[in-house]
Amino acid sequence: MVTCPVVIKIDQSEAHGDVTVQQFNSSQRWGRALKSLGLFWLAAAAAILIPVAHFVLVPGFFIAGLVGFSKGMSTEEIVLGGTCACPKCNSQITISRSAAKWPLSEPCMKCRMNVSITRSPARN
Ligand SMILES: [Zn+2]
Repeated sequence: MVTCPVVIKIDQSEAHGDVTVQQFNSSQRWGRALKSLGLFWLAAAAAILIPVAHFVLVPGFFIAGLVGFSKGMSTEEIVLGGTCACPKCNSQITISRSAAKWPLSEPCMKCRMNVSITRSPARN
């Protein structure tokens, strides 16, 4: 886990904050991908025993396993969370756990504006 400085923007206003990011190296990505594949394929194997529903569940879990494997391999980092101040109204914005697809977008609960959250290259 690393704490990254971020820039929060609404239109021309900007503020600074921090988010906690979990990064995965190659072996961690393989581990996550194989765990996802194994769990879905285990569910597919268990679904064989369910009459009628197995016609949908077995191929569904099989495909979900492949999708989960692909997603696990491609996820290099996730945002665990963080807080920042809204550039407009200065109220606190909680950044939720999500895939690290920069720029992130979070709503300000006070002024109802969506803020754009990007990594700060200058302070990194
Ligand atoms: Zn606000």
